Amino acid sequence: MESCINVEKEIEKVLTKFGAFNDHVGRTLTELIEYVQGIQKEFNEAPMTNEVSAAQALILTQCAKRVKDVVASMATEHRDLHGTVSKVGKAIDKNFVADFASTSNEEVFQGPENVKLLNQVISEHFLRQGMLDIAEELIKETGLQMEQQKREPFSELNRILDALKRRDLEPALAWAQTNRSKLIEQSSSLEFRLHRLHFIELLQQGVFKQDEAITYARKNFQHLANQHEKDIQVLMGCLLYLKQGVQNSPYSYLLDPIHWAEICDIFTRDACALLGLSVDSPLAVCTNAGCIALPALLNIKQVMQQRLVTGVWNTRDELPIEIDLGRKCHFHSIFACPILRQQSSENNPPMRLVCGHVISRDALHKLANGSKLKCPYCPVEQNPSDAKLIHF
Ligand SMILES: [Zn+2]
Repeated sequence: MESCINVEKEIEKVLTKFGAFNDHVGRTLTELIEYVQGIQKEFNEAPMTNEVSAAQALILTQCAKRVKDVVASMATEHRDLHGTVSKVGKAIDKNFVADFASTSNEEVFQGPENVKLLNQVISEHFLRQGMLDIAEELIKETGLQMEQQKREPFSELNRILDALKRRDLEPALAWAQTNRSKLIEQSSSLEFRLHRLHFIELLQQGVFKQDEAITYARKNFQHLANQHEKDIQVLMGCLLYLKQGVQNSPYSYLLDPIHWAEICDIFTRDACALLGLSVDSPLAVCTNAGCIALPALLNIKQVMQQRLVTGVWNTRDELPIEIDLGRKCHFHSIFACPILRQQSSENNPPMRLVCGHVISRDALHKLANGSKLKCPYCPVEQNPSDAKLIHF
């Protein structure tokens, strides 16, 4: 961000200079043209003779000189602009690193299987974002086999979200009612919130909607009363203020448009949880994580190159330094083997020893002596085959 601001400063300088130059040139040229036209008019009005008088010759010489001077000063001014423009280029070079390739691992995107996975992730991202036509085209062009079943939930979610953005609650309500039992299981308040929005819409329209609001509340809030008793009491309290308008009541906060923005987030979160999908697109998460990690990785790469220790970073699945992406990117626990000081992987998973200490499988094999193993943390002797695989 800081880099963008630094470059922007230079660009602004160029724009200001260009603006000033443009104004100045415009003014000077207009003056010059008027001056030449003035002379032309004067000459036209002079009595017709074949000879140019001495006075006229002097005027012409002066005119030519003035035109020459103006052109020369414009050229100088224009040349001065180059310096400012080239400063932008220098600022870009200084603030942005062009060689991101040094931190990438090209193998990741090679091979038919990896390319297929990449295309699949991109297609799913477009499906999630509701860009169905782009996703369809990509699936067609890359020859991906994506079952209709897999695409269906995305298009339904997007249809409902679009409706919610237009303040149309119907499709979301229908969906919440169909999935009511599952939503209750994950203690979702989606259905209540949707009904509440509809109820508030009715209240906003004033006293003449009172009957409709009460009927709606009776019909839809009853089965939600157990979980949302307090909230429903508040909504009933609003009815008292129908005459003076809810906006003039202590309940005016219920009219805040933020509730409409929130409902979209709540729907996305609950629907994704119900369908077993992550709320954020995996591609977006990866890209954002990459953006956070890149500056630190470029720095460390530079340091490595300067100190000629390029060989340090060659473990394929491991970064040379720990990068904290923030709580948003904490998805699951990781295990680092206290013996080998390596993060556990599918090939080298964590193993729980009989005594309760946990080490990686590679460490277990290294420490085992036939059918005997002495725990490196407590001296309990045991059979390595009694160790159990742990899943995080
Ligand atoms: Zn132990």
